[in-house]
Amino acid sequence: MEPFSNNIVFIDTEFSDLNPYHGEILSIALVKPDGQELYLELEYDGPVSDWVRENIVPTLTAPKVPREEAKRKIKEFLGGKKPYAIGFVNQYDTLYIYKLFRGDEDPFYWMPIDFASILFGNGKNPEASIMEYPKDKYREHNALDDARFLRDNYLKFFQ
Ligand SMILES: [Mg+2]
Repeated sequence: MEPFSNNIVFIDTEFSDLNPYHGEILSIALVKPDGQELYLELEYDGPVSDWVRENIVPTLTAPKVPREEAKRKIKEFLGGKKPYAIGFVNQYDTLYIYKLFRGDEDPFYWMPIDFASILFGNGKNPEASIMEYPKDKYREHNALDDARFLRDNYLKFFQ
């Protein structure tokens, strides 16, 4: 099977709350099919959910980038090609990216792609690969490792 387009970028984010009215993006990773990567942790001093305080905040150890700089770096990395953003389950990732870019042009193609739905539509359990997530290779709840994991699974699926 051939995917429709190779103008794609794998995305993952971590964010402050599962409630989309309150949540904001904390970190974002973009990984291109050729393996080029961008990972950013964003400045944020608002409230976070209890779960995020316990499980995500301690893992955010990179220097924090202001939101405007993050947007500039994301646009620069994507190079005006408007790739399809592919998430494992993209709903939250794309939502928090929309919130980051509100009022600005979205640097991704307008239609995000959901890898879980690709698996589901091909008769595969979308959770099967996540359940096999090798903890020694990918750090859990780390946007960069989640995006790498997604890229690895996607390329394996379409090889
Ligand atoms: Mg993640």
